[in-house]
Amino acid sequence: MPLAWSADYAGPLFDTHLHYNQEAWDGNTGPYPPAEALARMQRNGVKAIVANSRPNAGTQTLAAAREARDAGVAVVPFVRLYRNRDDYDNWFRDDTIYEMVLAELARGTASGPYKGLGEFHLYDSANANGPVARKLIALADQKQLAVLAHVDDRAIDLLMAHAPSQGRALRLIWAHTGIGGPSIERVQALLERYPQLMGELSYRPGLTCEGGKLCPEWRALILKYPGRFLVGSDTWVNQRWSAYDEIMRGYRAWLGDLPPEVAQRVAWGNAAAMFGIN
Ligand SMILES: [Zn+2]
Repeated sequence: MPLAWSADYAGPLFDTHLHYNQEAWDGNTGPYPPAEALARMQRNGVKAIVANSRPNAGTQTLAAAREARDAGVAVVPFVRLYRNRDDYDNWFRDDTIYEMVLAELARGTASGPYKGLGEFHLYDSANANGPVARKLIALADQKQLAVLAHVDDRAIDLLMAHAPSQGRALRLIWAHTGIGGPSIERVQALLERYPQLMGELSYRPGLTCEGGKLCPEWRALILKYPGRFLVGSDTWVNQRWSAYDEIMRGYRAWLGDLPPEVAQRVAWGNAAAMFGIN
């Protein structure tokens, strides 16, 4: 019997997969200037975000925005590996990307140092072995930077192998927990193998069932690993900004189907602990 009477989760949300790309706001024009973007977060109870953008100027803008402080939104900045769309398919072998990342890390943001790298994409998991991918993973592992990676399950193993810690210390946020929908068993095996692997749940195939509630096998997985899952908006196109209220309502609906302490961790606590946000 569906828990039709269960109340939506009403606590704070940590949006761990937010893009503030050029087409949303380029510094002068765009449909989502900082006040507009922050208003969306504020009215949805989003109290902290992992911010990244193509190019990184968008993240710099959000990190410096008075509106973020006024709205009580903590900005956790990540260095995006993309200056433009061409970089999506080349970052893993392009040394100028590595140089750009080092320069950006040295520069920092008005909200403090960068806390991670990404989001990056690997459409072919073999590119996890690209020379720049190897260097960036080693850098993240050594500097304790988190990594936000849109990759398949095979690439998780390849990327982890490039970390000096062999994946024991690499704080990898798996965007969408595998957008291609690897099995629950496979996700569980990776969570077991890599103690710092976290699953972000936007666009996750098979996550929700009837009425927007969690499918039984996903509910069981989250209950088994309450400390390993995160939520995010993935505002990769402006459509996602216009749907921001709906996306967050969707999360609140299925979070309400979990025991309150588990819902709080997935919605907020896991990411807050990861990034030291109160
Ligand atoms: Zn994304």
